[in-house]
Amino acid sequence: MAGKLKIAILYICTGKYTIFWKDFYKSSQKYFLKKHNKTYFVFTDSKHINYEYKKNVKKIFQKKLGWPFDTLMRFDMFLSQKEELKNFDYLFFCNANLLFKKEVKEEILPDKYAHGGIVVAQHPGYYNKINDEFPYDRNPLSTAYIPMGEGNVLCAGGFNGGGSTEYINMCEELSKNIHTDLDKNIIALWHDESHLNKYIIGKKYRILPCNYLYPEGWNLPEYKKDIKILIRDKASKKYGGHSFLRS
Ligand code: UDP
Repeated sequence: MAGKLKIAILYICTGKYTIFWKDFYKSSQKYFLKKHNKTYFVFTDSKHINYEYKKNVKKIFQKKLGWPFDTLMRFDMFLSQKEELKNFDYLFFCNANLLFKKEVKEEILPDKYAHGGIVVAQHPGYYNKINDEFPYDRNPLSTAYIPMGEGNVLCAGGFNGGGSTEYINMCEELSKNIHTDLDKNIIALWHDESHLNKYIIGKKYRILPCNYLYPEGWNLPEYKKDIKILIRDKASKKYGGHSFLRS
């Protein structure tokens, strides 16, 4: 690949999720697309965050919206930066509690033609299950509805990205769908993740195996020897557990 790419990392840490930012940043700087130019767009309600003085960190005030809106409204947050994001080659969303463990290089970049410019990660809880077992949204009234028998894969909301144009297009469509649902008082079963899964059906995309989104403490024999991105265990007492973090 010729030259350095401009990579934007979209990172949300409202409320107590700022606890994860410092280690995330350090691990990303060390291992994630390290030959390229990365800029972090950090959506937070925190007055101060580590590394906010760095040239490649852009802190954006984001009010804490409450659960599940802190995650569901992510596409609106990203679109608030649309004009700036257009200037990047690739955009990546990373869940707050991700940690890069090994080098992640250009192998994850989606091709515009072969992958429709979008990359998603396999959901580690469902890689060996069939589609009727996936927790897709089954409410026909939701824009995220997927009928039984459809869909080949369950992707996780925690890590995904794309070419800037394709990713922004996706954000626009998903934001529209989420607002259509909200107008009818509907929230898809797994929030942004349900909408993402609906979006990829019938489209081209690159899918990353479970070693690119590997839950801390799990035993997935096929993947555990080469863990590239770890999902830190939010249930762990170290971070206070899910409900504490989301509160
Ligand atoms: N998030 C946040 N503040 C919150 C709740 C969620 O910043 O109070 C963001 C954060 O980036 C987090 C993402 O939304 O990684 C997804 O939420 P969560 O991690 O709770 O969901 P899950 O891991 O179950 O996908």
